[in-house]
Amino acid sequence: MPDDVVTMDKIVSLCKRRGIIFPASEIYGGIANTYDYGHYGVLLKRNVVDAWWQAMIGDRDDIVALDSAIIQHPRTWEASGHLAGFTDPLVDCRTCGQRFRADHLDAEHDVRCPRKPSVLPGQGPDCNLTEAREFNLMFETTIGPVQEAGSTVYLRPETAQGIFLDFKTVLGFARRKPPFGIAQVGKSFRNEITPGNFIFRTLEFEQMEMEYFVPPDDAHRWYLHWLEARMDWYERLGIRGDHLRLRAHEQDELSHYSSATSDVEYLYPIGWQELEGIANRGNFDLTQHAQHSGEKLEYFDQQSGERYVPHVIEPAAGVGRATLALLCDAYDEDQIGGEARTVLKLHPQMAPVKVAVLPLVRKDGQPELAHEVRNLLRRRMQTEYDEGGSIGRRYRRQDEIGTPWCVTIDHQSLEDRTVTVRDRDTLTQDRVAVDELPDVLAGKLAAPWTSPKLAAEA
Ligand code: ATP
Repeated sequence: MPDDVVTMDKIVSLCKRRGIIFPASEIYGGIANTYDYGHYGVLLKRNVVDAWWQAMIGDRDDIVALDSAIIQHPRTWEASGHLAGFTDPLVDCRTCGQRFRADHLDAEHDVRCPRKPSVLPGQGPDCNLTEAREFNLMFETTIGPVQEAGSTVYLRPETAQGIFLDFKTVLGFARRKPPFGIAQVGKSFRNEITPGNFIFRTLEFEQMEMEYFVPPDDAHRWYLHWLEARMDWYERLGIRGDHLRLRAHEQDELSHYSSATSDVEYLYPIGWQELEGIANRGNFDLTQHAQHSGEKLEYFDQQSGERYVPHVIEPAAGVGRATLALLCDAYDEDQIGGEARTVLKLHPQMAPVKVAVLPLVRKDGQPELAHEVRNLLRRRMQTEYDEGGSIGRRYRRQDEIGTPWCVTIDHQSLEDRTVTVRDRDTLTQDRVAVDELPDVLAGKLAAPWTSPKLAAEA
């Protein structure tokens, strides 16, 4: 595999330059590892989430959607084990006051001593690390005006627990029987000790989680099913197969509740890292919540008379990490007519904007026809109108946000109602009749696609 031109710094600077993703609270100097998504970032992220919902509830009949609360009853976290065990080992440096994760002090995690960035924490001449102590990652807050016993609640560190709390309710109204799943997308919060690497590890982040409830004997079969289905999904987003892999957890890495877990990993510029975890959680969560709440959380099969606590397979993905993988996988640099170009070779279905409509000049009726063309297209796909600057600069702007097609209106367009369609990757320009344009572009958008970076690698 030849070296990719992409680096994390280039992604961060492109995202900032084009207002895709940028540091939050910047007018106050920013706040640790918290980012805001601008217009194109929102569109890109929305495409990721839509593709996930399509795979979960559009393409299948056995999964239903849920949107549970971020703040749940505090006993939730007692039952789930988060209160006692959702911790990371923390060390402080007595010299610089910085905190580190004791299990991230190796070269692989690329955490550096702030006083001497060429060395790992603990290895500098003045480093003076404390013993590790366990630090709970849940953000605490209180309900009500005074902080008193019983008023402490937590911002959820994962969306999954809301699904388990609602298992019985959903089973009642969804008219489903195992195997069936409950899916949700929403924000989770973790007071990470060493966040970093842009949106890879942040304090608040969106998760896409699905709990798939199955008869106990079928759990392993469904675990294997979801490993394959989730790898396929990332490839369908256009991510190169040679940059994706499945890594099974070693026995000593497994969470206390899990009999098997594998991570889908992506080869980010910082190395292979987790995009998504797929776990066989057994019946741990439903059993725990049944014990703590006193509610029966089981399935009764009226036909067979069988009663059991379903086992659960959980694919748990991060919206930010998938968005970052798409950006890294698509980032490319090339030369056009001797000029350097930065381009995002995104799958057209993932691109924030599908078509930019550009009048060649701002006169002679071209803007009017361009608006007409834009109105023809806007209900079919995300479209943008741009008349500012030279046509070359406008193409470059669209290339940087990954717009697959630019439609240009020129003097000939006014004579014969044809426009040119410029392709972001091949740079070909085809003349198309205005009346046929919506169908031509919709056809291109629906067509199978593979990353042109793969062809370049071959
Ligand atoms: P890691 O080992 O990287 O901390 P994890 O194994 O704790 O991740 P899970 O609890 O399995 O993560 O969460 C499921 C998914 O949620 C992860 O695969 C990742 O995509 C996303 N995720 C978890 N923590 C963060 C975070 N702090 N920032 C951004 N995304 C996150």
